[in-house]
Amino acid sequence: KRTITRLPEWLKTPIPSSGANPNFGKIKADLRGLNLHTVCEEARCPNIGECWGGNDKSAATATIMLMGDTCTRGCRFCSVKTNRKPPPLDPHEPENTAEALARWGLGYVVLTSVDRDDLADGGARHFAETIRRIKQKKPTLLVEALTGDFMGDLDMVKIVAESGLDVYAHNVETVEGLTPYVRDRRATFRQSLKVLEHVKAVRGKEGIITKTSIMLGLGEQEQEVWDTMRELRRIDVDVVTFGQYMRPTKRHLKVEKYVTPDEFDLWKQRALDMGFLYCASGPLVRSSYKAGEAFIENVLR
Ligand code: SF4
Ligand code: SF4
Repeated sequence: KRTITRLPEWLKTPIPSSGANPNFGKIKADLRGLNLHTVCEEARCPNIGECWGGNDKSAATATIMLMGDTCTRGCRFCSVKTNRKPPPLDPHEPENTAEALARWGLGYVVLTSVDRDDLADGGARHFAETIRRIKQKKPTLLVEALTGDFMGDLDMVKIVAESGLDVYAHNVETVEGLTPYVRDRRATFRQSLKVLEHVKAVRGKEGIITKTSIMLGLGEQEQEVWDTMRELRRIDVDVVTFGQYMRPTKRHLKVEKYVTPDEFDLWKQRALDMGFLYCASGPLVRSSYKAGEAFIENVLR
């Protein structure tokens, strides 16, 4: 209880409801029959009303979780359950997901997954197959894949990058200096940069949008955030998002700082000045926050 009362005003948001937005209610009802696992619902994301609702239905965004709910890694900010040997993949998932998404009135989908270091290809082919099937059934649906680092295996990055997706996202999560404390020890900042760099090498600089997310409030210094942005621009990352780190449980890293909305605005301005195509930045921003609207307004212009 005490933690809640210590939250700054700007992080206390009303629980999303379908009341104000008919599209949100409709999508939610549709979802029941589709057997899809959305991060939006499962993580009780506070942005669900905005993402699923959207003013324009073609921009409605949702995030789908592939490859199960159990991760082979254990990052210190993340509450997903961990196991060295998660259950095998469902071979029908690519087709079922594509079928369901083709029926769902969505404009933009983010496909993400747990890390599957137990699989020889890290799940890259499963990801790619899902994307191919979605594009076959509904070519107008914009697809973003938010993948792990495939342990630095760039051939796996290539498999996903060539599957027909519109946006390739991989999150650096934090600044380089904090990476060993924040992310699983198998993840490194340099390895993540290589993933993002390779996507552009495969598809060409203008051929695909690359995107990454940074959590603020983990103890990073301002200079380190600047350095991170410079590194990202150096390898032509197009989109960056900033959000507040929120501690999922007492066993996770504690919040070092609540960054104010004004500071988030400042980071957004700095990112745009540095040449990022788009930046979402705010206390409640998550990497997929209104991604459809952002893509349509900033990339398809
Ligand atoms: Fe969570 Fe992703 Fe880290 Fe797995 S790899 S623990 S899902 S942040
Ligand atoms: Fe879903 Fe991401 Fe939007 Fe949250 S921010 S509602 S997880 S699409």
